[in-house]
Amino acid sequence: MNEVSRQTRISRPPAPHEPGQQAAEYAVLAEIGRIISSTLNIDEIYEQFAHQVSLLIPFDRLSISAVDMDAHTVQAVYASGGNIPGWERGVVHEIIPGGISDILERDRRGILFRTPDEEEEAGQQPARDLGGDFQTRIAVPLIARGVFVGALNIRSLQPYAYDEKHVAQAERIGAQIAGTIANVFAYEKLEAAQLALENAVSELRRSNQELEQFAYVASHDLQEPLRKIASFCNLLEARYAERLDDKAGTYLHYIVDGALRMQALVNDLLHYSRVATRGKEFAPTDANSVLQDALVNLEVAVSESNASVTYDSLPRISGDEAQLVRLFQNIVGNAIKYRGEDPPRIHIGVEEQDGQWFFSVRDNGIGIAPEYAERIFVIFQRLHTREEYGGTGIGLAVCKKIVERHGGRIWVESQEGSGATFRFTLPRMPE
Ligand code: ADP
Repeated sequence: MNEVSRQTRISRPPAPHEPGQQAAEYAVLAEIGRIISSTLNIDEIYEQFAHQVSLLIPFDRLSISAVDMDAHTVQAVYASGGNIPGWERGVVHEIIPGGISDILERDRRGILFRTPDEEEEAGQQPARDLGGDFQTRIAVPLIARGVFVGALNIRSLQPYAYDEKHVAQAERIGAQIAGTIANVFAYEKLEAAQLALENAVSELRRSNQELEQFAYVASHDLQEPLRKIASFCNLLEARYAERLDDKAGTYLHYIVDGALRMQALVNDLLHYSRVATRGKEFAPTDANSVLQDALVNLEVAVSESNASVTYDSLPRISGDEAQLVRLFQNIVGNAIKYRGEDPPRIHIGVEEQDGQWFFSVRDNGIGIAPEYAERIFVIFQRLHTREEYGGTGIGLAVCKKIVERHGGRIWVESQEGSGATFRFTLPRMPE
């Protein structure tokens, strides 16, 4: 047993014997119970609690500290009476190994220091070291549902102000309020976590918006100089071809090719950033006519590839029509582009489930290995070289953005070599 325990450990006394004392304590305990159930305002509870304690154990300072044994921190959540510099409400301290919190958690019973010297001899830091004049101190643990959640500290400016009877009383008072205090701590922790989460979400939203704005401005402003490079290179090629030797001609060709590719990338990037920055308000839209518009835009590709496109009768949905056309166009366009040996057979289906429409676009093309199922929706991610299939790797990233803006999600089910089914959900419109 260490010094603290030997010197100050209290053999737990029974409830007070003097009838007057006992009645006073019962009255205080009952009143604390009433206070707890009468208000949700924790500051009011603390105030009234401190007042009730003072009726039984006169003090010069009463403080309640919250202990977080996982985070190894302790802080005063309430203090009334005289000040102890550094231990004002809300100041967070590391728990000192072997310090009072450690001991209270281990022994789970009250401790009495009748003088600062006793406190010091027990290896604790008396208030006088910090500039407080307190002489006697009672510290009792607050234990709720078996968990040590904090401490109640009662101090007097007089030495030998308290005895073991007071410690026992303080323990009973602590037990009466520990549950409430634990609930408050848990609630405050939850609130703080929620606040942190909300802050993180709004920060993420803000930085996303900034990024979208940046992508929009950058791609928009890059268009003009790129157009200039491409058109003047074209002019150079057209007007000066015979004066350039073969090497210069080849170089010029590479420049034009690079500029055109960059134009395509910048254009697609502009489309991508426009989904969020230039989206229209949602309106009731007939998905059948959306699909028809997409198919009209794909007419050349459909007829060149000899594709057959079939579809279910599609519902009315709430959305941004132009974006929905682009969504269908990109997915059906890919189904044609990534076709296999046979002419493309594409079916657009829809099912209703749990208040959502599940759309599917099934093809008989080259398919996608399952390990790439997520990657293809990331901007600029492609599974093929430009020589195999042209493209910028933005089409599906745009689809994802559009679907998410409409409150849905998108994914692909496929095996390499056996076709792919792209699926996306859109919320059902209220009747
Ligand atoms: P892009 O077609 O410009 O490469 P996308 O974002 O539209 O960009 O597609 C990303 C990648 O997903 C494509 O490079 C391709 O490898 C794969 N992909 C998309 N649609 C299909 C499909 N229907 N069948 C097989 N692969 C596909």
